Amino acid sequence: MATKQSVEKLIAEVNGSARKKSGIAEIFGSNVFNDSVMKKVLPKSTYEAMKKVQTGEAKLTPEVANIVAEAMKDWAIAKGATHYTHWFQPLTGKTAEKHDSFLAPQKDGSAVAEFSGKQLIQGEPDASSFPSGGIRATFEARGYTAWDCTSPAFLKEDAAGDVTLTIPTAFCSYTGEALDKKTPLLRSMEAVSKQALRVLRALGNKSSKRVTSTVGPEQEYFLIDKDYFDQRADLIASGRTLFGAASPKGQELEDQYFGAIKDRISKFMKELDIELWKMGIASKTKHNEVAPAQFEMAPIFSTTNIAADHNQLVMETMQKVALRNGLVCLLYEKPFAGVNGSGKHNNWSLATDDGINLLEPGHTPHENEVFLTFLAATLKAVDKHADKLRAGAANPGNDLRLGANEAPPAIISVFMGSFLTELLENISKGKATQAKGQQFLTIGVDSLPALPLDNTDRNRTSPFAFTGNKFEFRMVPSSASIAGPNTVLNTIAAEALDEIATRLEGAKDKNKEVAAIVKETWAKHGRVVFNGNGYSEEWVKEAAKRGLPNIKSSIEAYAAMANADAVRLFEKYGVLSKRELHSRYDIYLEQYAKHINIEARAAIQMTKTQFIPAIMAYASELANDVSALKEAGADSSVQKECLDTVSGLLKSASKKLSALEAATDKANGIGDVEKKAEAFRDSVFTAQVALRADIDALEQIMPKGLWPVPTYADMLFNL
Ligand code: ADP
Ligand code: MG
Repeated sequence: MATKQSVEKLIAEVNGSARKKSGIAEIFGSNVFNDSVMKKVLPKSTYEAMKKVQTGEAKLTPEVANIVAEAMKDWAIAKGATHYTHWFQPLTGKTAEKHDSFLAPQKDGSAVAEFSGKQLIQGEPDASSFPSGGIRATFEARGYTAWDCTSPAFLKEDAAGDVTLTIPTAFCSYTGEALDKKTPLLRSMEAVSKQALRVLRALGNKSSKRVTSTVGPEQEYFLIDKDYFDQRADLIASGRTLFGAASPKGQELEDQYFGAIKDRISKFMKELDIELWKMGIASKTKHNEVAPAQFEMAPIFSTTNIAADHNQLVMETMQKVALRNGLVCLLYEKPFAGVNGSGKHNNWSLATDDGINLLEPGHTPHENEVFLTFLAATLKAVDKHADKLRAGAANPGNDLRLGANEAPPAIISVFMGSFLTELLENISKGKATQAKGQQFLTIGVDSLPALPLDNTDRNRTSPFAFTGNKFEFRMVPSSASIAGPNTVLNTIAAEALDEIATRLEGAKDKNKEVAAIVKETWAKHGRVVFNGNGYSEEWVKEAAKRGLPNIKSSIEAYAAMANADAVRLFEKYGVLSKRELHSRYDIYLEQYAKHINIEARAAIQMTKTQFIPAIMAYASELANDVSALKEAGADSSVQKECLDTVSGLLKSASKKLSALEAATDKANGIGDVEKKAEAFRDSVFTAQVALRADIDALEQIMPKGLWPVPTYADMLFNL
């Protein structure tokens, strides 16, 4: 018979292994130097000092930095790390890392592991090859990385078992100018916190000490088999297919969206979750998306700079885990023509350090002054600076996506839902709104519970939608860093809140003033609200009537971040200086031109070395058939007709190929960055589209076995 003790032991063992099996709690954050690790490994006084540094209440001292560095190193080494890296986000939109080992050789030939406070706080990578837009000449290439202690350090593991202590940093020049995406994001978070606090104080909030912007970015992506990927020079070079006739089946049956997940994909998703959880990334939702071979992952939201760091890791990890599974993850905005492209839904809100979501309407939003004020501020910000938000979502890939299929159009409008729209209308007319309290949706089946109804209905066609307690900015490109759009969002919100705070601070009757602010905002900026179908032709016309900008290409969009108004705004809130804005503008234009140039070169190469030889071979096969049939006195008319079609298309394609080559040469010869980018958009890109039409037509008549690359049907459906 089992003794009481042995039973307890057994239970403990069972529980232990059960816990291991489910694992999620053990795995989550296991590679993060997070708050709970810090609490354990740091002396209490250092831990407390560090907390103050993180909240901006105190400056980091060398003593504290040394103790933290030592503890971080010991923790990392115990988990297998041999190296550390200052991880940063240059203007390429990707991340960068240079690994240094902890190794410190001693005089006697032995070695110890070393990592000082100074090494933790600051690094100096050889920064000469990162884009700086003229801020640094290569001969004065000093760039510094500075520890962002508000985003926790973590361990990056690779499949080879290499473990690296990874320290999130900001990247600046010797003169303190931002050379990265993170520095302005951190500055914008400061700016919005400061102005939001002023509004809260004016409305009687005495307890909150900080306001942070929060973001939950939903990430869309495609997966295709690596064997197919390897056979397509366009995917390898540019991330998208430059050729490809539509497959017989696309997304029209709507059978992929939320469909059952295939085993192969499920295995990928599971491995992805585990890798992300280890790094403390709260991957929450996974599902099939609308296009065939398209999927989505959504994490639980976090502080914006952490969300931006995490999203970079999400993209990187997706690509790594895909390769381990014989797949390739495509993050490009429009990898396949004719089916949906990918974006990131950037869910954004503002929250106080004591847990108040400032965009939470509560049950009676008309009584919630804080909500109304922040709602009005957001409306005002978005309408006033729609061009800058659009710029924040611009990249060459998004040019192919905005306005097509499910994606948002290039016009910025705000979806508010009928209830909130009516509420704002009523306030501006001085009318009362009935408290609707918690509304319930009844679904007509008695055995099912009544569902609480959000204060907003859903609208999938709006680029900027209020979704219950946050705004969802849906224009963000799938491959881009979310730092840019959130820098814009925070800064434009800061300005609107600043103006509102000044009014509220001077007002005797705050309640009346809030109503007046809402009324004025509605009158002046209500035009940006649109609850209808954002994809309709009527909306494009209506938006033009309302005077809303419709900025169709990224080149035009970038300009909005370099004009006088942008300089005024971003300098006022200390987010980006004129020099920083202008350098970024140049970099983005240059990157645009390079991007289209790469596409053109890939298209030229594929056409010359793959398509034309295959087509020629087929044409001569047909020609042989025609003469053989003629000789035999048989009917060769079908073969002849086919030969004529193929020859005609080949001739046309060959002409268009020459045109593309000429356009590319010409564009590359232009010195001025703006003109060069425009030439790539207006003549190189268009020449490439023209060439594609002929090649795609040929793909549809050539025998499948002779076509030199995998087709859309192969890539999208054979997974
Ligand atoms: P849907 O696909 O319906 O838009 P999801 O649940 O997939 O919704 O994604 C919603 C995202 O919004 C999640 O990342 C979630 O964490 C995030 N989110 C929720 N509340 C907030 C908030 N207050 N601030 C920022 N993001 C939020
Ligand atoms: Mg969404």
